[in-house]
Amino acid sequence: MKYYSTNGKAPIADLHKAVVKGLAEDRGLYMPERINKLPQEFFDNIEKMSFQEIAYTVASAFFGEDVDPDALHDIVYDTLAFDCPVVNVKDNIYTLELFHGPTLAFKDVGARFMARLLQYFIKQEEGHKEVNVLVATSGDTGSAVANGFLGVEGIHVYVLYPKGKVSPIQECQFTTLGKNITAIEVDGVFDDCQALVKNAFMDAELNAHMKLTSANSINVARFLPQAFYYFNAYARMKEQGKADNLVICVPSGNFGNICAALFGHEMGLPIKRFIAANNANDIFYKYLQTGKYEPKPSKQTLANAMDVGDPSNFARIYDLYGKSHEKISALISGATYSDEQIRETMRECYKASGYILDPHGACGYQALADGLQPDEVGVFCETAHPAKFKEKVDEILGIDVAIPERLAAFMRGEKQSVPMTKDFADFKDYLMHQ
Ligand SMILES: *Cc1c(COP(=O)(O)O)cnc(C)c1O
Repeated sequence: MKYYSTNGKAPIADLHKAVVKGLAEDRGLYMPERINKLPQEFFDNIEKMSFQEIAYTVASAFFGEDVDPDALHDIVYDTLAFDCPVVNVKDNIYTLELFHGPTLAFKDVGARFMARLLQYFIKQEEGHKEVNVLVATSGDTGSAVANGFLGVEGIHVYVLYPKGKVSPIQECQFTTLGKNITAIEVDGVFDDCQALVKNAFMDAELNAHMKLTSANSINVARFLPQAFYYFNAYARMKEQGKADNLVICVPSGNFGNICAALFGHEMGLPIKRFIAANNANDIFYKYLQTGKYEPKPSKQTLANAMDVGDPSNFARIYDLYGKSHEKISALISGATYSDEQIRETMRECYKASGYILDPHGACGYQALADGLQPDEVGVFCETAHPAKFKEKVDEILGIDVAIPERLAAFMRGEKQSVPMTKDFADFKDYLMHQ
């Protein structure tokens, strides 16, 4: 499979290059030149298959030409060492729980897959030069990537995060690991962290000094595997006879997660329509209404992993539908919620069903509650475990959310981080001395 850039000015790449480079030379995002449709027979029998079997079929359609089948099988099964179950919350609203991985968020799936695929490719390279992964995080990316790569030989991870803008629980999940993981605490906002990473990839001198790659949701090895669990959600709903008129609702920030769902749809996954649920960062919502994409500085909200003012993966969605606002708005609708509405939703849902939403999932739940037709069944992604946002959730619901042991273990660790300004010259200087 070949990959082209959404900006159209970079050379075509193979999977190996797309994974190692992350971002194309022209700053565009890589797109597969084809999206292979899966056969009808697969969908006819999907409810009889396990999550891992389904995922391996989907992975083969994307990566089968470029990765040895046995290796791909191991990568998929190793990645999905945990389940992504579908749970009924209320009436025809279901949740796809994506928080059963090591860091309790959906990003574990993409990060674990990417770490394993990157290692597969590095091993094939002569000299096995160390690869440095740069990742900007607004909260959960950093922990998922750091844990996905922890202890993986030949790879060093630098996690850039905005000082004081991630929760203490999020922070400890990437600042306490040590080994091949370095946390960089940037005096700025998430968009500054993302700009530092993007500039680093464009800097010739830096790239001559060290081999750099990205693990943000822009990397094809991170975002495509997220399609796996949408197929599984469909299978599990079909098992219950609830798969007709299925609506998938994704709490969105950088739009990698929903983009994977849309790729699934292009492969033939029978989803009727999609909803992108935003917090107050409503750039995509506005685009749907007006046809104009106008990035803005990100605003800090309760659902902080979705505080993105210029969602990278918009470029992929735009490209996927031939830049047609008409096509995009026919398939995807939007929703946007203030912090006050998020709080209200969390209380309402807890009262009505006993289900504890995290602030991100709350946007997804509410978008279904507001927008579902009577004949539709909705599945929203619960993108993180509520305990990841314990202080907020406890305060909003007046409860004491239990902390799963795998999270408690991080909280006992000692924080280590490198302070950094948002000035690229400082970041470059630091990396040049590594
Ligand atoms: C990253 C994240 C999101 C947003 O996902 P995107 O792929 O960036 O749209 C939503 N919820 C949580 C908990 C996250 O960590």
